[in-house]
Amino acid sequence: MKIIESVKELRKTRKEITGKAGFVPTMGALHRGHLELIKKSTEICDTTIASIFVNPTQFGKDEDYDKYPRTLDNDLQICEENGVDIVFKPKKEDIYPLSNPKVGFRISEELGNILCGKSRPGHFEGVAQVVSILFNIVDPDIAVFGEKDYQQLAIIKEMTSSLRYDTEIVAVPIIREPGGLAMSSRNRYLTPKEKELAGNILKVMEGVKVKAEEARFDRRALPVEFIESEAASRLTELIPDCKVDYVEIRNTNDLTKGRFLARDSRIFAAIFIGKTRLIDNLYIGV
Ligand code: AMP
Repeated sequence: MKIIESVKELRKTRKEITGKAGFVPTMGALHRGHLELIKKSTEICDTTIASIFVNPTQFGKDEDYDKYPRTLDNDLQICEENGVDIVFKPKKEDIYPLSNPKVGFRISEELGNILCGKSRPGHFEGVAQVVSILFNIVDPDIAVFGEKDYQQLAIIKEMTSSLRYDTEIVAVPIIREPGGLAMSSRNRYLTPKEKELAGNILKVMEGVKVKAEEARFDRRALPVEFIESEAASRLTELIPDCKVDYVEIRNTNDLTKGRFLARDSRIFAAIFIGKTRLIDNLYIGV
């Protein structure tokens, strides 16, 4: 496995790749969720490049950029053992040669101003910015992203298509802890008890799915707002001291919202446990 820090060397190595080049962008602190992305890339591509870069521009002023877990030795071992061919771990100056980078994709309001885009202003602009720069450097045939960050995935698809990147975006389903909590690098901020309680996020979303299926069977129209507020109350009941940021039901394809539960719905949730923000989502169909 090659470990590359410089943009110049990465570009040179990329040019030598024959066959399909797969790319897995990460911020490190790798876990089984990342592993699944790596696996997917190694299955469908000839060469897999993983990047490890904690991107400062996607963190808000009061967020955890400085404290974000950095576990490089372990990350490199995971990459090595799981078939990554090249790890790209640039420095901040390699990605952002100017101190106040202004470049960026203009995300549509429909995708950018909802859910996490509303709660974390500037976050997705930072994500789109770093992914577009990484795509310019890596020039991947295929890039793999997780459904855990579902809105991010939608924005990356929008960006890739709008900017005419010659890259296919492949999605991987959410990988979960045994108790149901979606795996995340930030889960290590939680105590074992909090982790256990956080398993209720999935339980509540699954409850909504069952309700949606029952209503469909009975041909009953379910008002979306009512279901959302019921789910939010259930979350605060089951996870004492959590703060619900949002629970929303939207169309799984374009993230639009209707008044009544319709076909191809997906439920999205974001909650705080202490200072740790957790997000999750589940396809609820109907
Ligand atoms: P991050 O390192 O958190 O920026 O995540 C890098 C990639 O891994 C993103 O495409 C995430 O959506 C994906 N990812 C993170 N956690 C999971 C998970 N639990 N299941 C599937 N994909 C994940």
